[in-house]
Amino acid sequence: MTALLELRDLARAFPVRDALGRARGAVRAVDGVSLSVAEGEVLAIVGESGCGKSTLGRLALRLIEPDAGEIRFMGEDLRTLNPADLRRRRRDMQLIFQDPFASLDPRMTVEEAVGEPLRLHGIVPRAQERDRVAELLARVGLRPELARRWPHEFSGGQRQRIAIARALASRPRLIVGDEPVSALDVSVQAQVINLLQDLIAELRLTFVLISHDLGVVRHIADRVAVMYLGRIVEEGPTEAVFRAPRHPYTRALLAAVPGQGGRDGAKAVPLEGDVPSPIDPPSGCRFRTRCPFAEAVCAERMPLLEGGSHAAACHLQDRLPPARPPAEHDAG
Ligand code: SF4
Ligand code: MG
Repeated sequence: MTALLELRDLARAFPVRDALGRARGAVRAVDGVSLSVAEGEVLAIVGESGCGKSTLGRLALRLIEPDAGEIRFMGEDLRTLNPADLRRRRRDMQLIFQDPFASLDPRMTVEEAVGEPLRLHGIVPRAQERDRVAELLARVGLRPELARRWPHEFSGGQRQRIAIARALASRPRLIVGDEPVSALDVSVQAQVINLLQDLIAELRLTFVLISHDLGVVRHIADRVAVMYLGRIVEEGPTEAVFRAPRHPYTRALLAAVPGQGGRDGAKAVPLEGDVPSPIDPPSGCRFRTRCPFAEAVCAERMPLLEGGSHAAACHLQDRLPPARPPAEHDAG
C-alpha cells in the first residue's frame, strides 16, 4: 500500500510560563514521531490525555507548525508548500473536532456551514450548491429540510453529524477525528461511530482516529499507535496490539479497561501514579517511573521503536512475561 501521509521525526514544543510570566521551560508535546498512514487505512492514535495525540493530529495537517520533522501528504512535503498551495491542499485533509458546539459557527445556518467548503474550494457550481448540501446532509443521516436551521437548534449528536457533513464537503482524502464522539452523550456515541465507519467504507476514506476509548479503537481501526509523553511507544495492527501488547504501557492501558484484558490476573500491569511532567520527562524510557519491569538500562538509554510491523519501544520487550490476550467476545 502506498502511504498517503508520512510523518518523519516530527517535534513540537510549547513554552511554559509561571503565574508571573517567567519562562519555566517547554512542554515537548510531540517529540520525534514518525508514522505513516496508508491510503484507505484507519489508524488510531491512543494514549492518556496530555500525551500529545491532539498536537500530533494538528501537526499532521499542518494546522500548527512543527519545530522539526517532515510531513509528506500525497507525495508533497507540506512544510515546504507556499500558503496558496497549502490552501489548495487543505481540501484534501479535514479535521473533525471533539466539540461540535465549538466547531460550528453559531452565525451560520447549516446550509451555509456545509456549503462554505464547496464554495471555498470550487467543488460544485454555485447553482448546484443547495442540492449538494442536501446530499451531504442525507449522507450523515439528517433531513435536508434542516438546512435552514441554526446550530443551536440541534442536539450534540446532530451537530457532530453537521460537522462531519462539512468535513466531507470538499471530498477529502484524509480525515483526522480528534476524539470525535467523546463530548457526546454515551447514548449517541455508538450511532456517530457507526456513521463514521460507514462513511470510511463507502468513501474509502483514510482516517486518523485520535481517541482514548479503546473499545471504539478496536472496533474501527486497522492499526494502532500508542503514545506516551510525546512519543510512540507501540505501533501495530489493531488485533495484534490488543491480543499481544508488546509495551508495558499498552498492557497497562488495556488492563485498565474492563473487557479489554483486565482479567489478566497476576500478569496485569496496574497503571499507577501520574504521568510525569512533560516539561522534565524522565531520562531514558519515559515510562520507567510507572513501569513495573524497569531495570537500570531503562534510565540510561531511550528505547527505540523496534520490531517491524508490530513494534514497541521497550528494552525488555522480548523478555517480558507473556500477557494473556483478552477474549474475542470482549471486543468493544
Ligand atoms: Fe519498562 Fe524499561 Fe520497557 Fe521502559 S524500557 S517500558 S521502563 S521495561
Ligand atoms: Mg486531546
